Amino acid sequence: MIVNCPQCRKPMSSKAPLCPNCGFERGEVSEEQLEELGRRRLRDRIYRLKMGSYAAISLLLAGAGWYFYQASQLELRPTVGPLCLVAVGAVAYVVVRALLFKSKRELKKT
Ligand SMILES: [Zn+2]
Repeated sequence: MIVNCPQCRKPMSSKAPLCPNCGFERGEVSEEQLEELGRRRLRDRIYRLKMGSYAAISLLLAGAGWYFYQASQLELRPTVGPLCLVAVGAVAYVVVRALLFKSKRELKKT
């Protein structure tokens, strides 16, 4: 049976004593524990990614707020700052969502 290495997530035989990719030593860890460990790591990663997506949205909203604030002030000249913030937030959000989608699909497989 093939399981994912809890350390590097590369597939490895459940019978192998250590991971051929990163050398992670299973020791006395049983097949079930190994799978549970992998699932826990995935859930942790999904949690962190969700936090990351909220951070990206906050960045995007902060940039948008900054932009509209500048636009509403006649004496203020619009700068590229807020647009950069919006762009960074949007790119970060897309990347995080893609990773989240991948992790969720991986979790479903296990
Ligand atoms: Zn490994």
